[in-house]
Amino acid sequence: MKNTAKHQGLRNQLAKLLEEKGITDKNVLEAIKTIPRHLFLNSSFEDFAYQDKAFPIAADQTISQPYTVAFQSQLLEVKKEDKILEIGTGSGYQTAVLCAMGATVYTIERQNELFKKTSLLLPKLGIRPKKVIFGDGYKGLPEFAPFDGIIVTAGAPFIPQPLMAQLKVGGKLVIPLGEEHQIMTMLIRKNETQFEKHEFGEFRFVPLLENKN
Ligand code: SAH
Repeated sequence: MKNTAKHQGLRNQLAKLLEEKGITDKNVLEAIKTIPRHLFLNSSFEDFAYQDKAFPIAADQTISQPYTVAFQSQLLEVKKEDKILEIGTGSGYQTAVLCAMGATVYTIERQNELFKKTSLLLPKLGIRPKKVIFGDGYKGLPEFAPFDGIIVTAGAPFIPQPLMAQLKVGGKLVIPLGEEHQIMTMLIRKNETQFEKHEFGEFRFVPLLENKN
């Protein structure tokens, strides 16, 4: 698991590209420069790890495109020690970016193979989310709620009610909504009963699967 000066150079270039594509949050760009994305991919993809592309990981899933990771992370406006829930741990790359931004991260994955693999990988890289949990993201994590932010990294056909309920007042839920393709959607909780909705254009994700554990 080597992380060389060449990798650092490629990460700096990737961060520059993301800045050109409109990412402005310095905290996000720093995290992109820090996290060794090549170590989250199967070694056959290592040479391409710093291209702005999604790649296959285990269990027919994908590691999100860096722009998508950066875009969702920027929408969350993470402050140090914010309590963030991630749905869809996958490779752990998005988890690592949130940790590097100073968040206290809880993350859920429903594919056992990925859950096991990523639970082992993160500590090896010195990345320590608060909890990595095997379970169904549609339910959220009521026992650790409320959260400052919730990020869903798979395409959801609808907004799961439990996720809205587990958001602090002032907190943000960032969720790609739709079946074939998704509209990046952000809900901000205004008070106990009201949410403000913002939409940010089209993205593509693997589906958020329900009841299939
Ligand atoms: N954040 C990941 C993206 C992985 S793709 C990364 O950076 O690599 C989306 C992930 O969501 C997949 O790993 C998939 O297995 C997971 N997923 C799909 N439905 C889920 C559900 N109901 N609960 C938890 N995870 C789910």
